[in-house]
Order: sequence, then structure tokens, then C-alpha cells
Amino acid sequence: MIQTIRGFRDILPQDTALWQYIEKTASEILENFGFQEIRIPIMEKTELFARSIGESTDIVEKEMYTFADRKGDSITLRPEATASVVRSYVQHKMHSQDPVQKLYTIGPMFRRERPQKGRYRQFYQINAEVFGISAPHIDAQLILILNELLKRLGLSGLKAHINSLGCPECRPHFQTTLTAFLEDKKDHLCEICIKRMERNPLRTLDCKVPSCREALEDAPSTLDHLCTGCLDHFNTVKRLLDVQNVEYAVDKTLVRGLDYYSRTAFEILTDALGAQSAVAGGGRYDALVSELHGPEIPAIGFAVGFDRLAEIVAQAGPKDAPPTLSPEVFILPLGEDALEHGYLWACELAAAGIRTEMDFSGRSLKSLMKRADRLNASHVLIIGQREMEENSLVLRNMKTREQHPISMDNPVGRIVSIVQKKLNQ
Ligand code: ATP
Ligand code: MG
Repeated sequence: MIQTIRGFRDILPQDTALWQYIEKTASEILENFGFQEIRIPIMEKTELFARSIGESTDIVEKEMYTFADRKGDSITLRPEATASVVRSYVQHKMHSQDPVQKLYTIGPMFRRERPQKGRYRQFYQINAEVFGISAPHIDAQLILILNELLKRLGLSGLKAHINSLGCPECRPHFQTTLTAFLEDKKDHLCEICIKRMERNPLRTLDCKVPSCREALEDAPSTLDHLCTGCLDHFNTVKRLLDVQNVEYAVDKTLVRGLDYYSRTAFEILTDALGAQSAVAGGGRYDALVSELHGPEIPAIGFAVGFDRLAEIVAQAGPKDAPPTLSPEVFILPLGEDALEHGYLWACELAAAGIRTEMDFSGRSLKSLMKRADRLNASHVLIIGQREMEENSLVLRNMKTREQHPISMDNPVGRIVSIVQKKLNQ
């Protein structure tokens, strides 16, 4: 038996109804807030990610699926969507039409990290990106949208953590202060953090190793080193969230694992999956568009972890999630003649918009009725030789046990009207 690769998985039919429901809910909310869908490739030139996410990040250093294609060009399965969306924005000069673009995309990402509960090597994200708006209102709005989405999916007990990472004006000064602090604590830091000190000192702040956590407990905070512009921006974000009753906590350890963030960074945390983990994260990346050879245009975005979200929604038991798809009409033909009629009617019914299933096995009525039960069919049509000859077919409603006579003249039209009437009630 050939099985999936480690960290990869199938989303099986019994789960796809939930996935579609989440996708639909997310699209609806995002579209109401002015977003349009964009679909981007799942492979890009490796340099796109190396350049945007940053050479010394976990993702680029050890998590990317990078291959040489047959001509030797280095290509990578996307580990995230923001870099691609920015590339697309720049490549298609979307800014020349209108610098303000709000784009969302839903799809798989690939990171070669250790698989565990809620962590896969192919996982899915809902991404939203806003270009061309520097106002803090949009930062608050993205957090509000996430809240709205999670609320609509029936989740509670989630908390937004927010921080400001400063900008190219104030961050260098902060890094100097932080590096001096880290030098003092060097003996207590893990090996990785020692490396981070030189290459990416900010990342030490969210190290999960207990000894680092302890050593960094009173590390300097970006928040105490923000320039006036960044401070005003952050204060406005907080004020708007207060006004809109969005719950949040300021978290000075929140730095996010990618290099391109500036100013606002946020995560939505849940404890529904055992250990505290993030269902969504995002932030501002005002320098990335120009970094990728576009004009100086501010931007901000978020990514929702779809797999984790689906798991929590499934646990919470959403109120209005759709039931799994069961047939509205199940056709049970008894004999050759019946099979042909049943087949033709089944096709016509499905084309007319009725979810139809039929059985081709030629087994006994008893076993076909068992299958109808198992499929949870709402109606069954038994086609027997005698019923056809006597023009006495009936469509049986499996829930109410009602029997509707079906004429051989216009069986399909009659079935459609019965089933649709039931649906409209
Ligand atoms: P984490 O701290 O959990 O590794 P991250 O900061 O690496 O998350 P982001 O790059 O911000 O994650 O991606 C946004 C969201 O995507 C995360 O909050 C999480 O829900 C989800 N996510 C990230 N990596 C995985 C994965 N390997 N499997 C499943 N979901 C993931
Ligand atoms: Mg990660």
C-alpha cells in the first residue's frame, strides 16, 4: 500500500463540508470588507522567499521545500502567501490602477517542520493582504475581521495578542539596546538564541526554551523604544480596538518569525488545541513592496491557519454548518429494464438540480433499502418491472413515509416538483 508522505494528509469527504463552509464564511466576510480573491501559484523562484521572509528565519533556513528543476533553477513550494501576493501586485503593476488593493487567497502552504497535532507539512491558510493604506484603522480592521470570522464560526475564548515592532527609524536603536542586554545574559541563552543575537536579535524574544524565557523576562521591549510615528500608530490601533470592544492583550514577546514585519504585529491565540497555539497571525510590512522592486507602498496582512481552525470549529460544533451531502433522491432499479430507465432519469434529475444517486449493483430490494438508509437519502424511487407496467411507481419520502405516485409520462418533472417543494418548505 502506498501512503501519504509524512506530514501530508487527505482531507476526506466527511470533512470537506466543514472546509467548504469555512471557506464560504471567510470569503463572504472578506468580500463584504472589500477584498477580492487572487489565486497565485504554489511554486515560486526560491529567491522570492529568501528575499522577503529573510535568510536567517526558521522558514528559509530549514523549513522550505526547495528543488532544482530540470534546468537547475531553484524553485520552492510556497511556505506562505504574502511574498507571492506582493510579487503579483508588483509584477502586474496593480498600484498604477489604484495603490489600494485588498486581496485574499485560500490554499495550501508547505513547510518541512516536525508534524504534530495541528502542525502539518502541507497545511492551508486563508490570507488577506491590504496594499496602499498606512492608516492604523486598517490594522485594527484586520484584527476585527479575524474576530468576526472566528465569532461567526462559533468560536469563543480566543484572544488577540498585539505588539509593535517599530520601523526602520526606531528599530536599529532598539536592536542595539537589546543586543547589549543579550550580551549580559549570554550564559543563560540556548544555542539558537546565541546565533540569533548576531543575525536576528529580535527573534530571541519569542524563543520557547524555558531558560531563555526566564533570562529574557525583563528584556527591553520594542514598545519602550518606538519613535513618535510608531507610538501614535500603535496607540490609535489600541484605541480603535477599545472603541469596537475587540479584546486584546499587548504582548511584548510577540515578534513573528518573518523579517518583513514592521509596526503592528498580531496573533490570535487559542487553547482549544491543548497547548496554546496561534490560529492566525499577521502584521504590517510597509517595506516589502519596495524590497521586491515595487514602489514605496505600505501593506499589511494576516494568515489564518485553516487546519487548526477547522479542528476547533469541528470541536465547537458550529450551529449552522451544513450536513454532509446526502442524496435527495436515491433510485433503486430492480432488473435490466428498470436499470436503463433509472439511469436516464437519474441523469435528468441531477442535471435539473436534484442531488441524485442510483444503485447499479442489481442486488435485492432489501439490500438496496439498507444502502438508502446508510446514505441517508431523503427520497427513494423503487423501479420494479410490475410498477412500470402498471404505471404505479411511487416516490417515498424516507422521513415522513409519504408516498407520491409517479407517472411514467413525466416522472422527472414530477419528482423535481415534489422534491423542490419539500426543500422550499
Ligand atoms: P507557529 O508559531 O504555530 O509555528 P507561525 O508563526 O509559523 O506559527 P505563520 O507563518 O504566522 O505561522 O502562519 C499563520 C498561521 O498558519 C499560524 O497561526 C498557524 O495557525 C498556521 N500554521 C503555521 N504553520 C503551520 C503548520 N505547519 N501546520 C498547520 N498550520 C500552520
Ligand atoms: Mg512556525
